[in-house]
Amino acid sequence: MKQSVLIATATLAGFALGASSASAQEKAKPAHPTGYTDTPMLPDGKWRVHDDTRPRPEVVTPGATPADPPSDAIVLFDGKDISKEWVMDKDDLPCDWIVKDGYLEVPPKGSGVGGYIKTKREFTDVQLHVEWASPAEVQGDSQGRGNSGLFLLGAYEVQVLDSYNNKSYADGQASALYGWKPPLVNACRKPGEWQTYDIIFEAPKFDEDGKLVKKAYVTIIHNGVLTQHRQAYLGPTGHKQVANYDKVLEKGPIKIQDHGNPVRFRNIWLRELDLDANS
Ligand code: MG
Repeated sequence: MKQSVLIATATLAGFALGASSASAQEKAKPAHPTGYTDTPMLPDGKWRVHDDTRPRPEVVTPGATPADPPSDAIVLFDGKDISKEWVMDKDDLPCDWIVKDGYLEVPPKGSGVGGYIKTKREFTDVQLHVEWASPAEVQGDSQGRGNSGLFLLGAYEVQVLDSYNNKSYADGQASALYGWKPPLVNACRKPGEWQTYDIIFEAPKFDEDGKLVKKAYVTIIHNGVLTQHRQAYLGPTGHKQVANYDKVLEKGPIKIQDHGNPVRFRNIWLRELDLDANS
């Protein structure tokens, strides 16, 4: 009896020894290498496939939900303070739009205040998150109904409109490139409901002679639905005219349109993009 216990103990000890030397081996040679140095070169001639020496992407901590700003975002409106990041477009004076209950609202027409607002900062390539709501009570029709707009570089509009059962022209609907491209689908929520825009904007580029070398592009996700997929602009947005790239413009503020309709905005943030990162 005693002998069998001894044998069992020795066997267990043997297993334990074997296990510990196996784990030492695993440490010495990981089952999954962090990368390779002997793989073929990629077509760009800079890195190998799975290159172990290639810098890893910068870490960004995501927001608690996809609506919340990630760690590298610039918060343009947090529901309280509009004075920090925004001014009136016409004269750079403090923004006089209504700030109430965590949202920003276009002031009533004829109130003596209002007009387009713009960010104090200027941007190029950005990822922009904006939430907006058209008036719960429908007033006006077509382009006179819940109309506003976000102007990237202060010039390239992503249309904001109450497009819920609104038979206005296609290239003027919510998330249209106004005067050019209708959205792929109409993903508008009912009047008064909060809606989300997640916009990826690529600024145009010009050479030293002012010749266009890259158009402006935009991708838009409206309420979680893709409505524009890296769509090129014809140029800065206009009304009843065909846009073009005559003017050199590579950088600018975000503007929000006052179209005389009390549209609300909240939770506005953006990330400045380095589209060549890790290339
Ligand atoms: Mg508009």
